[in-house]
Amino acid sequence: KTPREIKEPPLSPKGMRDLMGDEYFAFQGFFEKASEIALYYGFRPIETPILERSELFLRGIGEDTDIVEKEMYTLKTKGGDQLVMRPEGTAGVMRAYIEKGMRQLPQPVMLYYGGQFFRHEKPQKGRYREFRQFGMEIIGTKKSIADAMIIRAAVLILAEVGIGDVCVFINSIGDKESRANFIKELAHYYRKHINDLCQDCKRRIRVNPLRLLDCKNPKCKEYKKDAPEILSYLSDESKRHFKEVLEYLEAQNIRYRINPTLVRGIDYYSETVFEVVKGDCEEVASDSDSPDSEEKLVKAEEKNKRTEKEEKEPSELYAEDVGLALAGGGRYDYLARAIGSKKDISGVGMSIGVDRIITPERMKKLHPRILRKPKIYFIQLGFEAKLKSLNVIEILREARIPIMHSLGKDSLSGQLAIAERMDVPYALIFGQKEAIDDTVIVRNMKNRSQSIVPIGKLAAHLKKMKQNF
Ligand code: AMP
Repeated sequence: KTPREIKEPPLSPKGMRDLMGDEYFAFQGFFEKASEIALYYGFRPIETPILERSELFLRGIGEDTDIVEKEMYTLKTKGGDQLVMRPEGTAGVMRAYIEKGMRQLPQPVMLYYGGQFFRHEKPQKGRYREFRQFGMEIIGTKKSIADAMIIRAAVLILAEVGIGDVCVFINSIGDKESRANFIKELAHYYRKHINDLCQDCKRRIRVNPLRLLDCKNPKCKEYKKDAPEILSYLSDESKRHFKEVLEYLEAQNIRYRINPTLVRGIDYYSETVFEVVKGDCEEVASDSDSPDSEEKLVKAEEKNKRTEKEEKEPSELYAEDVGLALAGGGRYDYLARAIGSKKDISGVGMSIGVDRIITPERMKKLHPRILRKPKIYFIQLGFEAKLKSLNVIEILREARIPIMHSLGKDSLSGQLAIAERMDVPYALIFGQKEAIDDTVIVRNMKNRSQSIVPIGKLAAHLKKMKQNF
């Protein structure tokens, strides 16, 4: 039975799009540049499957998170396996680390990856259901220098692609011990306002109080201002770690601001969490509040001791209000155990949202190294020439000279018209006579001058000409 004819034109799924032309090359150019930086810093590539078993994300990211609750594309295979289209990269990389016994390698293991990720979110500016990330992970060390290197890499990659004005919003959510005390206090604070909170937050008080700080509901956000701050609850060990990370950032002149309510919506984070947003730190936070780290930590500690309320910086200062985060990440010392490792494995990582980087203004600068826009249009005329034209194209490829052509076309005027439209400086004309003589006409599209070049010398001739392109 033939299926019924479909009358509607086909459409891509909502929140997913085709990449092509300059945009495609800009993505390719970005991944090339980012990979090169990662390689110089000692990272090695990894590609994990786009599908993973559901448990990996249920246990790793946490069941009471937006990603797991609402955003995962899950599917059941015919064999009955429950799989998920990966919503993020870290859990898969950690799974590979454990599965492949990378503990046996010299530590830490440093990996980078890039590719598509899937979240069933409401599509809007900078938010897609299929999007691309470039990520880097340092697994197997607790040392603060790893956190610093990851943050540096994120800032550096953004700068190298033309986004120099960024601010790192950073916070520490401490180790398990620090967090347990804080969460008790946080739940206690919000419980006093439970009647004013949204439905989600009412539930969060019971199941995952930390996520109360992530709520975007304006009413709930009001309460965030006076909520207890995690920095005041950090254990000595966590405090030391955080201070060291900040010292590293200062030593590298990386602009940052501590955002005490930044917790990020994923369960696996511990200690350092951060987001990189566009904008100058001073502008983003025009408040007189000093970005100085030590001072901020001391202030937070003092605040905890005080009973009376004090003026706090406006919440507009922070990431979600000043624009979309370009990158995010953090430390995840408890992820490995959560997904089934018998031993603790520390790690820290970041990922850049590439779709938010590739804007029309930046597209031009981001071209891949191997695929520049061709400057030469190849024209063939007559069957004799068509027969040999694939050989000519191969000669040019071997000489690494990219060209454009329309092999489906037959007439000179038709092909020249395309060359004009493509705005290329040179055309190669390969007709019956040239095919027999083994020559090619090289035509300057601007002044229309032409010269005849033997095929054997074509590559060398074009390479010499390339200097004037
Ligand atoms: P996350 O994995 O949530 O930490 O996100 C890391 C980065 O990926 C963010 O800072 C964004 O730049 C980007 N990102 C996250 N979700 C999306 C999305 N739905 N569409 C486009 N980019 C996204």
